[in-house]
Amino acid sequence: MCGTTGDGGDHPSGSVSVDSVDDLTYIRQFRERLGLEGIIDVHTHFMPERVMRKVWAYFDSAGPLTGRPWPIAYREDEQVRLKTLRDFGVRAFTSLVYPHKPEMAAWLNDWAADFAARTPDCLHTATFYPEPSAGNYVRKAIDAGARIFKVHIQVGAFHPADPLLDPVWAAISDAEIPVLIHCGSGPAPGQFTGPGPTAELLHRFPRLRLIVAHMGGPDYTEFLDLAERYPRTYLDTTMSFTDFSEAEVPFPIADLPRLRTLGNRILFGSDFPNIPYSYAHALYALDRLDLGDDWLRAACHDNAADLFGM
Ligand SMILES: [Zn+2]
Repeated sequence: MCGTTGDGGDHPSGSVSVDSVDDLTYIRQFRERLGLEGIIDVHTHFMPERVMRKVWAYFDSAGPLTGRPWPIAYREDEQVRLKTLRDFGVRAFTSLVYPHKPEMAAWLNDWAADFAARTPDCLHTATFYPEPSAGNYVRKAIDAGARIFKVHIQVGAFHPADPLLDPVWAAISDAEIPVLIHCGSGPAPGQFTGPGPTAELLHRFPRLRLIVAHMGGPDYTEFLDLAERYPRTYLDTTMSFTDFSEAEVPFPIADLPRLRTLGNRILFGSDFPNIPYSYAHALYALDRLDLGDDWLRAACHDNAADLFGM
């Protein structure tokens, strides 16, 4: 089953096998078995060309950061990447952008609004950074129809409860717009990653619809605790349960039953195109958890459809 192969054993380090025919076949059969007309992928990256190239350069040099190569499986032109997702049967996805410095977010938001306008199956995405102008441009993004925000705590290197973000969280909480937050300490920890700072944020804004990226890995247990405490908190499956992630910090077997209990708050995400294995493998990684077809349908489509009112 080549399409479901991760980065394990068969390939020399630094290479990756993505057999596009097997990829398509596996995903089609997966959807047919579940009776899913489409998949909703809450965690995909589309961004301005030169920013994407910088992200790819970062992963190309990821060896020293993560201790192992990170070959990008879907390094293609934007239009090819869009076609690939559509061929997989992905009916809705995001364009997660995130700033690493001040005075960048508003520009990214303009780009993402334009991208969503010309890409009807992309959920209009926006972002922010702790800076005095954040309240204004976030309100502007909400008024313009943003349906999801993204923040990256390790790349941005800020505390999610930074006082400069008070007006931002208040506005987003009132508007009930989901925020996908990369707050876990993988693949590299930051000063403000891990469950503590996010718990502080939720303590102050308990009605936020946070989507914790990567299931909060590697601190899976602590982020499941948070999701249990805050009923509007979601977890995205991005990269979790794959051979690539399991080789580093495996998801705790003892926590598997909690995935079933929280089954209406698990959202499929892929990190497409920046993944070091095939898209089919990300779905296979969920399938092999053996949580059942109802659970898979909810995770790969229904939960996100409810959350985004689709
Ligand atoms: Zn990502």
